[in-house]
Amino acid sequence: MSSAAQSISLLPARERSVSVAGAGASAPAPMACDQASLAGSVTQRACAFCGSRVVLYPIADALHLVHGPIGCAAYTWDIRGAQSSGPQLFRNSFSTDLREMDVIYGGEKKLGHALRELIARHSPKAAFVYSTCIVGVIGDDVEAVCREVARDTGIPVIPVASEGFKGTKKDGYKAACDAVYRLVGTGEVADIPQRSINLLGDFNIAGETWVIRDYLERMGIHVVATLTGDGRVDAIRRCHGASLNLVQCAGSMTSLAKRLEKEHGIPFLKVSFFGIEDMSAALYAVARFFQDEALLARAQQVVREELAKLLPELRRFRTDLTGKKAAIYVGGAFKAFSLVRALRSIGMRTAIVGTQTGDKSDYETLRQMCEPGTIIVDDSNPLELAKFCLEQDVDLFIGGVKERPIAYKLGIGFCDHNHERKECLAGFIGMLNFAREVHATVMSPVWRYTPRRSGGIPAAVNATLGGKNAAAPSP
Ligand code: SF4
Repeated sequence: MSSAAQSISLLPARERSVSVAGAGASAPAPMACDQASLAGSVTQRACAFCGSRVVLYPIADALHLVHGPIGCAAYTWDIRGAQSSGPQLFRNSFSTDLREMDVIYGGEKKLGHALRELIARHSPKAAFVYSTCIVGVIGDDVEAVCREVARDTGIPVIPVASEGFKGTKKDGYKAACDAVYRLVGTGEVADIPQRSINLLGDFNIAGETWVIRDYLERMGIHVVATLTGDGRVDAIRRCHGASLNLVQCAGSMTSLAKRLEKEHGIPFLKVSFFGIEDMSAALYAVARFFQDEALLARAQQVVREELAKLLPELRRFRTDLTGKKAAIYVGGAFKAFSLVRALRSIGMRTAIVGTQTGDKSDYETLRQMCEPGTIIVDDSNPLELAKFCLEQDVDLFIGGVKERPIAYKLGIGFCDHNHERKECLAGFIGMLNFAREVHATVMSPVWRYTPRRSGGIPAAVNATLGGKNAAAPSP
């Protein structure tokens, strides 16, 4: 580990979850990751239930009912900036609002009533019922209630085994994939053309699925189903008729892709739609998969047209941003890879990169692709992130809602790249939006007047961080 990382006091049990790119000539030990968070380290991760909720939530014409106390539903209400081109039912946060008496006597009756009432009122195409921690504890037979209501109402009513304590957020992703898979194979596929794909793991944040769909359709590719951005139950029922699955968020959707491959023979490609390099590579990968020269030529044409608009604008931002340093802390590793490349394309260096759900090979890839000295961290916590940011003196923090206050309290520019954002950051247009947002925050004059830049950090913050930074003189 580098001297920078050595000077940070980590909880001893966290030490194997932090690494430094380029450290030492011999191969470093694999990072500890893909495991339950350390008790007491106040992880940035969400629970397994939240993992399921964020994956299934954008299915717009389905009813989403959280079986549990109201807090679980409130915590995940409208949690993504996912958009729908039609129904808005998904944006409601329905809950069975379990209380003390339900915990004592069971919540099955309440669940059955809630489902029947909501289905009668909203006529959804399907219903998803999320189990929360307390449902796992009291042992409600959610499967049986769902089966009964499905029989009575004639729509699929699907239990999601997402008890918050059952594992990491990644286990929640898996529960979501298992739940949605119950719809697969139940629709008619005879009219689906051969050059067809499903988009997996794009959640239509600020309309991103529409951007990607447009590129693919300009190439002549038919999109059967989008899972789950702007998702529709009937399209998901037909997704087993596509020739290829494009997996954008590998962390959340790889298990579904593997099942579709195993049981329906549909191969999948892991891609990313963030940044110029990865977006172009994704389109070329689709063209190569179908082994069609005309398709490849059309992909090149799409890339050329988009770059002609984008590159002159990017040059402007790159001039100011060259040499600036960034910290990245995101959910999945594929997004982290893309962000490292995207930052490079606007002249910036990644000084810290971490994820909530990366595995050993993801961290090895990060070690290879990042510059020597870059700190790599799994399942971090606010204290570690704050310390790393100060030590590396970063100009930008890219993260989500839980990282925003860390950045602003330290006086660091921030870019929201999480699922709750309202800005399209995918595709070529997304790269332009990303560069514009990064430029606006990094170059803001406000940071000059923060304690970090004007001589130190406040004594109170300094004390929390272990007292290693000089106290700020009064401005
Ligand atoms: S499912 Fe459990 S961990 Fe998740 S929000 Fe509800 S109570 Fe909290």
